[in-house]
Amino acid sequence: MRRPFVAGNWKMHGSRVENAELIEALLLGVPGQPTAEIAVCPAFVHLWEVGRQLKASNVLLGAQSVCAEPVGAFTGEISAAMLKDVGCRYVIVGHSERRALYKEDDALVARKFLAVHGQGLIPILCVGETLDERERGLTTQVVSRQLGAVLDLAGVAAFEAAVVAYEPVWAIGTGKNATPAQAQDVHAHIRSVVDSRDAKNAARLRILYGGSVKASNAHEIFAMPDVDGGLVGGASLKADEFLKICAAVHVH
Ligand code: PEP
Repeated sequence: MRRPFVAGNWKMHGSRVENAELIEALLLGVPGQPTAEIAVCPAFVHLWEVGRQLKASNVLLGAQSVCAEPVGAFTGEISAAMLKDVGCRYVIVGHSERRALYKEDDALVARKFLAVHGQGLIPILCVGETLDERERGLTTQVVSRQLGAVLDLAGVAAFEAAVVAYEPVWAIGTGKNATPAQAQDVHAHIRSVVDSRDAKNAARLRILYGGSVKASNAHEIFAMPDVDGGLVGGASLKADEFLKICAAVHVH
């Protein structure tokens, strides 16, 4: 049995005041023992303060990215050790916005994954195809390549606690989500890729769906047998919407 997981990716949104209001509303609505593990991922500058607000709650803290290097002269970068120091438990790596806008390739994403794992934090590894790649029938090939780069560098043992998020690029922030069947197909493929290296880790790997998840579609997507929750962008900025998504999970 895998405990479902829902993570909110706040991206470059939120002020200190807005974040405090959002957290207050979230914590008021989160049940004492939610079925889903829940995390929010604010911008770097807000991690410490949001972390303090989450203290003694059952909502965890995550970061949106990380530097692959451990320490040193890397102006503007944030290390995995720093994220651990401010209370993060999760770190998103390989988000499609990082891959597309900041030219993070598979090799760099794999190094970031390893840096996060090396600090005892849990990477949320994002994979997913563009619309063009889907239309050319390349979805499983792309996802296998993205996953393979990380498995080759970090080893399948590093997936014991890791989370994978399948995020079709064409569904992120577009309002156009994958159908439950499309999500299930790719999730099953992801699990089979990990299974080919280690059946035990594959069986317990949590694979989240991300891409225009809303309260209105979460239930049917999360019902798919290989969908263990969601990585939620826009809808995680509204407490009531996010809480409904968190409540829509299924235990598989
Ligand atoms: C994301 O940024 O990871 C995401 C899934 O965004 P959205 O929910 O807004 O599509």
